[in-house]
Amino acid sequence: MKKPTVTNSLLRSLPGIDKLLQSPQFASVKNQIPHAILLEAAQTTVDACRNGIRNNSTDRPQTADPNTIAQQAIVLAWQLNRPRLRPVINATGTLLHTNLGRAPLADAALKAVDAVARSYSNLELNLESGKRGSRFSHVEKLICQLTGAEAATVVNNNAGAVMLSLAALAFGKEAIVSRGELVEIGGSFRIPEVMEASGVGLREVGSTNKTHLKDYVSAINGKTGLLLKVHTSNYRILGFSEDVSGAKLVELGCEHNLPVMEDLGSGMLFDMTPYGLPREPTVAETIAAGIDIVTFSGDKLLGGPQAGIIAGRREAVERIRKHPMARALRCDKMTLAGLEATLRLYLDPLRAKSEIPLLKMLSTTAAETKLRAGEIVSQLNSTLGDQMECSVVEETATVGGGALPLSELVGFAVAIRPKTISVDQLSMRLRRGRPPVISRIQDGTLRLNPRTIRPDEETLLMHTITAAVAESEPAGR
Ligand SMILES: *Cc1c(COP(=O)(O)O)cnc(C)c1O
Repeated sequence: MKKPTVTNSLLRSLPGIDKLLQSPQFASVKNQIPHAILLEAAQTTVDACRNGIRNNSTDRPQTADPNTIAQQAIVLAWQLNRPRLRPVINATGTLLHTNLGRAPLADAALKAVDAVARSYSNLELNLESGKRGSRFSHVEKLICQLTGAEAATVVNNNAGAVMLSLAALAFGKEAIVSRGELVEIGGSFRIPEVMEASGVGLREVGSTNKTHLKDYVSAINGKTGLLLKVHTSNYRILGFSEDVSGAKLVELGCEHNLPVMEDLGSGMLFDMTPYGLPREPTVAETIAAGIDIVTFSGDKLLGGPQAGIIAGRREAVERIRKHPMARALRCDKMTLAGLEATLRLYLDPLRAKSEIPLLKMLSTTAAETKLRAGEIVSQLNSTLGDQMECSVVEETATVGGGALPLSELVGFAVAIRPKTISVDQLSMRLRRGRPPVISRIQDGTLRLNPRTIRPDEETLLMHTITAAVAESEPAGR
C-alpha cells in the first residue's frame, strides 16, 4: 500500500490557488494578464495536477512542486490571454473558405472600416440637408453604377437577402423554382427551407436535369407570386441538361405580371474568363436580362465583407427595404464602410484586379506560383533540410466557398515529407502554431499552396514551420 501514501502526500502538498497567485511568477505578469485569466489558469493547472496524481496518469509529470505548477499555469495564462479569433495563414490554395472567413479585405476597405469605426460617422445623416439619411445610400449608387440596377440595398448576408426578398415579394404565395436549382449551400442554407421560413410556398417544376419554359407556364396559377431562379453555385448538372434562361423567365413574368428573382450566389461583377475561369453571367448581365431582383454575397467572388446585396427594380427594392424584417437583417457601419471601399475599387477595373486580394489570387499565374513555391522550398531546404524533404509539385487550387465548383486554377505548391514526425503530426502542429498555418495533405505529403499565402506572410510561415519541427513532444495545448 505504498502508492496511496505517496499520492496522498503529493495531493496534500499541491499549492493553494492563493499561494500561486501570490507567487513571484504570477507577480511578474500581473500587469500584463487580467486577474480573471490568471485565476482561471491557476485553477485549471492545479485541477489538472490533482487529477494527474489521482489517476496516476503518465502523460503529465506528477508534481506538486509550486514552482513547476506556477510555471505551467503562466504558460496556460498566456495562451488564454491571446484572442481566440485570430488571423491564420491559409496555405490550402482554396480562395474562399467559409471556415477561414472567406474573402480577405483590400487595404482600402480596411482603412475605411477603421476610420468609420473609430469615429462618429454620417451613417444615417444627410450632410447636405442635415436631415436623417439612409445607411444604404452610401453603397446604393455604387451598386447601381456597377450593375446597371435601378436601386439596391444591402443586408447581413446573401441568405438574409434571399429570405427577405422572398418574404417581401411573395409572402403567402408560391414561388416557382426548377427542381435542378433547389440548392443546399454548406451550413444549412437550403432553398426549400428558406422559402418555408419566408412564408413562401415552393412550387417545384421540371426534373433534376431538365426544366423547360412550358413547365413554368403550366405551373402558374392564382397562388403564384414569384418566379425564382437560383444559381447552382456549388454544383453543376452536366451532360443531358437544360434550364430556362433568366431572360425567358422575365418574358413569362411580364405576361403574367409576376416578379422574377435570381439568387446569383457569388455575383461576379467582372467577366473572369481571362483568369481561365468558366464563363458565368455577371450581375450586370443578369440585371440587363430584366430580372426584378438579383441577390449575391459580398464576401464571395466580390472580395468584400460579409453582406447580402439586393439589386434590381426600384419598386421591388423599395418593398424589400420597407419589410419589417429588414431591420433585423440590416448590416452595420463597418460592413457598409468596407463594402463601399471595395465597390469603389471596382470603378477602376485595373485597380480592382491589383488591390482586391481575391482578384489578385485569382489572377496569379501558374508561373508565379511555381516561382514562389520554389523560393519557399529553397528556404526550407537551407534551414530545415535535415528534417524534411521538400519539392515543388503541380497543384490546382479551387475557388471554393460554393463558387465556381468546376473551375481549377492551375499552379504549383510546396510538398513536404517530414523525416522525424508524421505528415498528420506536422499538419496538426502547423495548425496550432503561431500564427496557425492551415495546410492540406495529399498523396502522403503536406502541401502549402502559395496562391493563398500573401508574400508578406512568408516569414511568419517559416516561423511556424521551424517551431513545428523543433517541437519535441506533441504540443500539450
Ligand atoms: C453562398 C450562397 C448563398 C448564401 O450566401 P451567404 O452570403 O453565405 O449567406 C445563397 N445562395 C447561393 C446560390 C449561394 O451560392
